[in-house]
Amino acid sequence: MWDAVKSIQQERPLTADEVHEIGCYKGARGIWRDKTSTSHLTESGNGVCVGISSRGKYEDEIGEETGTYDYPSTQASTQDLGDIDSMKAAMTLGLPLFLLRDTNAKGELVKGKGPKRRVDRVEFVAGDPLSRSFVFTFSLGGRSDYLLPEDEEGSCFQVRESKRKQSNSKKRSQAAFRAAVLSRYGEKRCCLCDAPPEVIEAAHIVPVSDDGSDWGGNGLLLCRNHHALYDLGKWCLDPEQLKVVPASGQDLSTLQIHRSNVLHLKQGPDPAALQWRWDKWS
Ligand SMILES: [Zn+2]
Repeated sequence: MWDAVKSIQQERPLTADEVHEIGCYKGARGIWRDKTSTSHLTESGNGVCVGISSRGKYEDEIGEETGTYDYPSTQASTQDLGDIDSMKAAMTLGLPLFLLRDTNAKGELVKGKGPKRRVDRVEFVAGDPLSRSFVFTFSLGGRSDYLLPEDEEGSCFQVRESKRKQSNSKKRSQAAFRAAVLSRYGEKRCCLCDAPPEVIEAAHIVPVSDDGSDWGGNGLLLCRNHHALYDLGKWCLDPEQLKVVPASGQDLSTLQIHRSNVLHLKQGPDPAALQWRWDKWS
């Protein structure tokens, strides 16, 4: 399949018909599993996921080098559970899958109807069966040499030369940052209120404008509200006890913060990043 995709893509984006014919994606759902030819590979008979579509995804969730993908989350329909099961089967079997990006004639991403399709081959970086999403990187369609930064070796500050690179390609670094933060914390939930994946953002502790890096340790998973309130200085994390401290005149309940600390995180944020933010805030 990959050879067929590549030989056409060297010239131009694939059409939707060609993608169907080659078999890497069919139908309209986000997840495509080929039940006919792969159901015997799974105990449940649900088959193995072959392709996923970027349609309807936020642009910063799927970048040029890495991306995150949420499992379907409608009220546990049989179809969704089958889709999720097939995705986990692909991970367990160690099979890469295809990512379909809808593009226009110029190769730009579009979300409308009748697009041409760019197909990338992707591999999983992290996919916890208990979490609601997984992180992937491109093995062949994008850059083959990209690796998520080693988590323990990271720094919350950027090295000088990478800053220019990052500002050249903000979208790309945002996707990589999101992937790195998600891979560090596992479950895609707001660490203050448990809000669900649909409203979760990766927040920089040391902001990019202050030379903060895109390393996972420099990030927090927050819902849109708590991200905005963090950036407005309405609360901060005490770097030693990991307590949530409201700004003066605020309290946790008016800020809708349901946890008084973030000690539930298996791996906490980088202490140096928290210290930097605390010193700036207090
Ligand atoms: Zn929240």
